[in-house]
Amino acid sequence: CGVFGVVGVADAANFVALGLHALQHRGQEAGGIVSHDPVQGFNSARRFGYVRDNFTSQSLMQTLPGPLAIGHVRYSTAGSKGAAIRDVQPFFGEFAMGGAAIAHNGNITNANALRRELIERGSIFQSSSDSECIIHLMARSLQRNIPERMEDALKRVEGAFSVVAMTRTKLIGVRDPLGVRPLVLGKVGDGWVLSSETCALDIIGAELVREIEPGEMVVITDNEGVQSHFPFRRQPSKFCIFEHVYFSRPDSIIGGRSVYETRRQIGVELARETPVEADLVCPVPDSGTPAAIGFAHESGIPFGMGIIRNQYMGRTFIEPTEQIRNMGVRLKLNVNRALIRGKRVVLVDDSVVRGTTSRKIKEMILDAGAAEVHFRIASPPTAWPCFYGVDTPQREKLLAATMTEDEMREHLAVDSLKFISLDGLYRAVGEASGRDKSCPQYCDACFSGEYPVTPSDMIEKGFQL
Ligand code: 5GP
Ligand code: SF4
Ligand code: MG
Repeated sequence: CGVFGVVGVADAANFVALGLHALQHRGQEAGGIVSHDPVQGFNSARRFGYVRDNFTSQSLMQTLPGPLAIGHVRYSTAGSKGAAIRDVQPFFGEFAMGGAAIAHNGNITNANALRRELIERGSIFQSSSDSECIIHLMARSLQRNIPERMEDALKRVEGAFSVVAMTRTKLIGVRDPLGVRPLVLGKVGDGWVLSSETCALDIIGAELVREIEPGEMVVITDNEGVQSHFPFRRQPSKFCIFEHVYFSRPDSIIGGRSVYETRRQIGVELARETPVEADLVCPVPDSGTPAAIGFAHESGIPFGMGIIRNQYMGRTFIEPTEQIRNMGVRLKLNVNRALIRGKRVVLVDDSVVRGTTSRKIKEMILDAGAAEVHFRIASPPTAWPCFYGVDTPQREKLLAATMTEDEMREHLAVDSLKFISLDGLYRAVGEASGRDKSCPQYCDACFSGEYPVTPSDMIEKGFQL
């Protein structure tokens, strides 16, 4: 998901709509905005579909006045698939000291246990979303103001959370102690911005101030500015390494470095680790493109767009059902026959999850008359599900969970299939000496099976580590 919030500008909701549009790649199912105006109080709008199809209408935006607003774009990981509008964030709660709205990116790994406990004690849930727990925990807190209640609530929550929240006067941002999901602070005119990624600062002409740190909570008001503190026990950070590989937009900056440059570097490492004789390097667009550029540069093999992407399709992976995803590949990608014919082609993609994309693409490339097909993948084999906010399927559906690399190559029926090593990936993201085995610098659970937070709900449901 993507989260965004603004305080201290006129018609903040317009800025939020733009920000959410720039974060659309983080969630395409639905979006929502809550605003506050001193005269008109809180207002909200939650809609299915793209931001540009909903939050561009004058008549809708006029219902969201005020200098303070937050928003969310949804990509369902927890909660029901193809969800109901009641699952669309931001969530809102009315407390003794006033209202508050929250938008959550990540996934709470003890949400089932919390929900059970809260329901037993009288909470009435409105949605199936894990994030709603935060509101109910806040309602039960005895603290006197909302940021403190939020702090109380989040201390009981396990897993990954980057939260943007608001009261009548405050914009609040929090990252979980491991900092699994991103969150950045920006400045626009006299106002302040919180955003999942820097690309959404650019769209409103805001400047990046800094990243919110793992375990940090910032409370921002119009007149007092940013107040920061660290309510949780300090732990070594575990930023999601897959944000670098796929999830974030390439024009975003993470840790002072452009995601594009990191992905290009992944391609360079990949070419060093898994060289191949071939005539053409083609990305599987768009997610494989920067890595393919790096691969071509390092290997000296010419780069070409052998697969063309229909720009009117979204991210196929994020489509909730298998059937839509299956069709999606053809609706989205087509082969540039004239370029491919007779060539030994290296296809570079960011990841192999179920293998759907790679299988379809291989067929298309061979149909177009390629002489050989070699897959090079810019991440290690995805052998474990993510429980921290990226929607990987159950373990059984992951190709790499049940097959060796050789078996995968055979299954896809390609001339070769190679993945970057975990150490290679760490080098590419800027860790010169690779992965620190005793305390990895990132979360890489979907590749290593080492989960930095015990996924207790899933273990209760029978998941085996
Ligand atoms: P597959 O077709 O193997 O199931 O999925 C791999 C493709 O899904 C890649 O092209 C990758 O770009 C894309 N993808 C989109 N979203 C995700 C995601 O959340 N996780 C992973 N691992 N891949 C994703
Ligand atoms: Fe990111 Fe993978 Fe960790 Fe999920 S399991 S947070 S996708 S690195
Ligand atoms: Mg892709």
